[in-house]
Amino acid sequence: MSGKKIILVTGSSGLVGHGIRAAIEQEGQREDEEWHFVSSKDADLQDRASTEALFEKIKPTHVIHLAALVGGLFRNLDHNLDFFRINTQINDNVLSTSHRYDVKKVISCLSTCNFPNETKYPINETMLHCGPPHETNFGYSYAKRMIDVQNKGYHMQHGRMFTSVIPTSVFGPHDNFNLHDGHVLPGLIRRAFDSKADGTPFVIWGTGSPRRQFIYSLDLGRLFLWVMREYNEVTPLILSAEADHEISIKEAAELISEAVGYHGAVIQDTSKSDGQFKKTVSNDKMRKYLPDFKFTPFKQAIKETCDWYAANADKVRK
Ligand code: NDP
Repeated sequence: MSGKKIILVTGSSGLVGHGIRAAIEQEGQREDEEWHFVSSKDADLQDRASTEALFEKIKPTHVIHLAALVGGLFRNLDHNLDFFRINTQINDNVLSTSHRYDVKKVISCLSTCNFPNETKYPINETMLHCGPPHETNFGYSYAKRMIDVQNKGYHMQHGRMFTSVIPTSVFGPHDNFNLHDGHVLPGLIRRAFDSKADGTPFVIWGTGSPRRQFIYSLDLGRLFLWVMREYNEVTPLILSAEADHEISIKEAAELISEAVGYHGAVIQDTSKSDGQFKKTVSNDKMRKYLPDFKFTPFKQAIKETCDWYAANADKVRK
């Protein structure tokens, strides 16, 4: 069928990729869209020839670019140089190959931790380059910010529609539940299940007071579908629930205890780093486009994620 979109999703074996697949399943696949979900098994995007071979095979008209070296606070702290170099290479290969293969639209994925550490709140899309990121993840953040620089360059020099979205902390099925490498919420879920099984206290790393906005991977998947079809600005779009949905790590741990059915002690290990205290973002730009978009209630999303973990305990990444 002419005008059919051939959509390549890089990095789709992870948390966000599964959110997009779940959103397509929920909505039903459209006849004018053909989806290709790939991971590092299909191509090493750090390698130029491998990236080109993938594009030659799929011939995408649209790319959702998720592939990245991703990790939580503790993995970033130890590997800032790797996060910068690997992500810069992957992004440059994907964007330049998309240009070469005449891809109509590329949507890359930045993160709210890429914003400046010292900033006004709430943070909006215009503030991305207004100061250094937090020291703990400067490598990942500068690599991600350079996507926005490239998007602007490809637009100004070649008229390309390469854009980006900036979700808050994502959680959901298929997350990385490794305690050292993963993000805060999957780490808490894993420790709550372990504490319930072992009868040991449920430990929050750090003081538990930092505040975060979380987005459920299924909601993010639904938003990605909209961005792919409708969003036509080169500048980034923050994807987030309202700023007053922000909660502390301690409050999240309480909801997780409830979902897991853990009734023992919850204690803090204050020898562990807290990271950035908060990263409150504004969703004003998103709401101008999508005033009626409904996010899954946080408590329900946590429960669904914990239930998924319990049902898949033998095969989750941990
Ligand atoms: P995951 O770690 O779950 O998945 C990473 C994906 O990237 C996997 O599919 C992996 O493939 C692929 N990948 C890694 N290196 C390469 C490579 N060299 N070549 C090809 N593919 C590679 O990540 P998430 O789903 O959590 O994140 C997806 C995107 O969303 C990332 O760009 C991330 O920066 C962004 N993001 C994530 C947030 C979060 O809270 N998780 C928040 C904001 C943004 P394989 O499985 O084969 O290794």
